[in-house]
Amino acid sequence: MKKNVTIIGFGGQGGWHANHAINSDVVSLLGIYDIDEKKSELARSKGIHSYSSLEEAINDSKCDIVVVATPNDCHKEIVIKALEAGKNVICEKPVEMSVKALDEMIDAAKKSGKLFTVHQNRRWDVDFLAMKKIIEDGDIGEVIRIESRIHGSRGIPSDWRCHKQFGGGMILDWGVHLIDQMLLLIPEKIKKIYCDITNITTDEVDDGFRLNLYFESGKTALVEVGTYNFIAMPRFYMQCKSGSAKIEDWRQNAQVAKCLAWHESDVLPVQTAAGITKTMAPRDEITLKTYEIDRPVSDVHDFYRNFVNAIDGKEIQLITHDQMRRDLAVMEACFKSAELGSPVYFE
Ligand code: NAD
Repeated sequence: MKKNVTIIGFGGQGGWHANHAINSDVVSLLGIYDIDEKKSELARSKGIHSYSSLEEAINDSKCDIVVVATPNDCHKEIVIKALEAGKNVICEKPVEMSVKALDEMIDAAKKSGKLFTVHQNRRWDVDFLAMKKIIEDGDIGEVIRIESRIHGSRGIPSDWRCHKQFGGGMILDWGVHLIDQMLLLIPEKIKKIYCDITNITTDEVDDGFRLNLYFESGKTALVEVGTYNFIAMPRFYMQCKSGSAKIEDWRQNAQVAKCLAWHESDVLPVQTAAGITKTMAPRDEITLKTYEIDRPVSDVHDFYRNFVNAIDGKEIQLITHDQMRRDLAVMEACFKSAELGSPVYFE
């Protein structure tokens, strides 16, 4: 049987959850609550029930799942209230802004015996899944380094995202997705991180950042978000022990180059202004095989299918509390590193 969903916050993302619930095979929409009366009116104009208070919304006895889609600064309070009201909770990302706050939410979930997760919907992004497939296939060997970038050129949206008090800034907005993905691509112990932020379009919050991750195994990673990049660098770039892979743009296939033989007998030099170079000359097809991999099949609605099955005890919740804590610990370290201008070491 379908589970009933109540949505708190009917803005851009609350609207996405509402549309999803209306068309879903596993959940139905009960209604929404928003502090802004205009949003409630909008909901009613679409035939969606709107509750008159948060308490009324989360205490509706027909509600199985509360979805929290408010700005980042009020996630904790609403999540804890919903858990205490005996509901399962899906919170929008970033789940909170500190590990301490998240721990209070996890405690409330444990006390209530209800499920609590975060909507890391970019785990279903095809570019990320393509990189994961390349690593799992193993054709180009073990990872040495992965670089994951999102470069835009429109600054931060001019809503609550450009204000610190509401949890604005790109580390919390896009960083949480890219960090979550990276820690799934390299699920290893972190030794240290170093992060610097940009303030090109605003001083109040970071409008971009560059995070370097150093793992105990020696693997390294870069996660970068930019909002002032009029030419974008590739979405993903990966060096492995037997080759490299790249995704230029998230609409494109992954390109893979597999090294067939390390030594080349005849290297055709490249002519540069300063002279010729053999060291930096491209390889030919005798020592390098290049190919593309098909875009993996993905359905973002599997997030809800998993959560509903987890409530029914048929599947394990995909996005776990440990993963939520880990992502948040890295984000906290990013802010600390940027403030101190130095690396942050992990225990
Ligand atoms: P938004 O500004 O479009 O909508 C937020 C809504 O919450 C507004 O209608 C506002 O009136 C309402 N609101 C604010 N405080 C409230 C409260 N205390 N109780 C009830 N309603 C309240 O913002 P958005 O873009 O929809 O972002 C909302 C959340 O969703 C954020 O956490 C954001 O990071 C997340 N988000 C996630 C994704 C994703 O892909 N997973 C995409 C966009 C946004």
